[in-house]
Amino acid sequence: MNAPLKATLPDQNNPEQDGATVRDVIIVGTGFSGICLAIKLREAGVTDILMLEKADDFGGTWRDNTYPGCACDVQSHLYSYSFEGNPNWSKSYAGWSEIQDYILHCVKKYQLRPLARFGHSVAGAHFNEVSGLWHITTDKGESLVSRFFVMATGPLHVPAIPSIAGLNSFKGRVFHSARWEHDFNLTGKRVASIGTGGSAIQYVPEIAPQVSQLKVFQRTPAWVLPRHERAYTALEKNLFAKLPLLRKLHRLWIYCSNELRLLPIRQPLLARVAEAMGKRHINKQIADPKIASKMTPDYTIGCKRILISNKYYPAFNRDNVELVTEAIKKVTETGIETADGRLHEVDAIILGTGFVIDPRDYMKNVSITGKGGISLLEQWKDGPACYKGLTVENFPNFFQMTGPNSGLGHNSIIYMIESQVSYIVDGVTKLKKGNYKYLDVKPQVLQDFNDHVQVRMQNTVWTSGCVSWYQQKDGRNIAIWPGTTFAYRWQTRHLNLADYEVVVNDGADTAVVLDNKVAFS
Ligand code: NAP
Repeated sequence: MNAPLKATLPDQNNPEQDGATVRDVIIVGTGFSGICLAIKLREAGVTDILMLEKADDFGGTWRDNTYPGCACDVQSHLYSYSFEGNPNWSKSYAGWSEIQDYILHCVKKYQLRPLARFGHSVAGAHFNEVSGLWHITTDKGESLVSRFFVMATGPLHVPAIPSIAGLNSFKGRVFHSARWEHDFNLTGKRVASIGTGGSAIQYVPEIAPQVSQLKVFQRTPAWVLPRHERAYTALEKNLFAKLPLLRKLHRLWIYCSNELRLLPIRQPLLARVAEAMGKRHINKQIADPKIASKMTPDYTIGCKRILISNKYYPAFNRDNVELVTEAIKKVTETGIETADGRLHEVDAIILGTGFVIDPRDYMKNVSITGKGGISLLEQWKDGPACYKGLTVENFPNFFQMTGPNSGLGHNSIIYMIESQVSYIVDGVTKLKKGNYKYLDVKPQVLQDFNDHVQVRMQNTVWTSGCVSWYQQKDGRNIAIWPGTTFAYRWQTRHLNLADYEVVVNDGADTAVVLDNKVAFS
């Protein structure tokens, strides 16, 4: 185990920073990624960690999303850390509060609270090539220094507010699904809901019995498959607690069956089988064939994220729920006007319109500059790209967790997060052991990796012609890892120094680049 680096190094380029404490790692974000990283870094002996969080508690997605019916669409025994099993999950797909409780349990057990500083957003960060350190400023005007800088903010945390004409002029309540206004009582209200993605399909059936009228504005129907859900019995929970191996086998079973979903997703021909299941689900659950037809997607299943619900379609059999498929023209003071000239008068508009997905948009207010003063946004002007979804050339000792092309449509993101964490921990400990100044991914290595990812994307459902949040504006898929999760784990099992320019600490604050083809082969 290495002793934590706790030194006071002067910043050659910024005398004001003289004397600042140099931390080993600053982690931005305290959701599943940041928490996992902090736990595993500590286990590896890296204890000098600071976690910055813009909100007031740990939890990320599961702290922010509290809308009625909010639950994970990945089974709880898999949507949890492999090293911190929970025998007491109440049902196969836990709701948000049970997941948040699990997160807070981990925070307590691994004593992470002292590491976190809440109510602090990162305003900027720049890398000093001479000292090999990151200088980070927060919105509270604090200046911090660290050897490693990790953005663990996740890709789905900034609500996407649609640019619909007149939205600001609406006199009723407007809120986004991820900022649910629980003080607003929906009982007896006329409500419009825009969007039919993973969030909307969960809250629509929950609020439908409560409101007087619900108009669901659908731009593109989603493929929604049955949700095989059940509560765990007391006996099962007891057995999982007493026989951890049994719980682990259960987890393995879920993992393997989820992984098999990649077959129809990657192969448009096999997707036809899944589409037949989807159509059967629609026709079985929706009474009116006209509505069923409007809710049947015309694109290959899996191109957009596949959703699961047993409650969504039946909501449209209710007299007080209307599916509106006409395009939205504008919002007026009293409601939503559609392209056919109809005004849908409502008391509230709920935006189930998803999240800002492109890091160039959701990180646009954070100025991150790397070697030579290049900004991250400038470097990503043609599209965000990271080596293994994690590292960026010219941004040494910087990791972007759940970065470009490390998301999933078929299995648990926690598995990917744990893979990324082992890669980062390996990098941090190698740098410390070798007394290196910094590691910077080689441009060709990054280019080859991304070319390979995009080649793997060809002839998959993701490139079969739909428009999805997986893509940037030119159609390039910047979100999804196109392979198996175990292939990703294999590729991230350790950080290969040969993929990086390694600069050593020579004691004279000059950069010495090792010929690491020789040194680390
Ligand atoms: P989403 O999947 O991006 O869906 C956004 C919806 O809003 C889409 O139906 C979209 O239509 C519609 N929309 C956006 N702008 C619009 C506009 N200007 N006019 C009309 N409609 C508009 O967002 P989400 O439902 O919040 O889900 C986000 C991600 O979180 C998804 O991956 C989802 O599966 C995931 N999620 C996961 C869980 C979980 O259990 N793990 C739970 C909830 C959500 P188009 O399709 O036409 O663009």
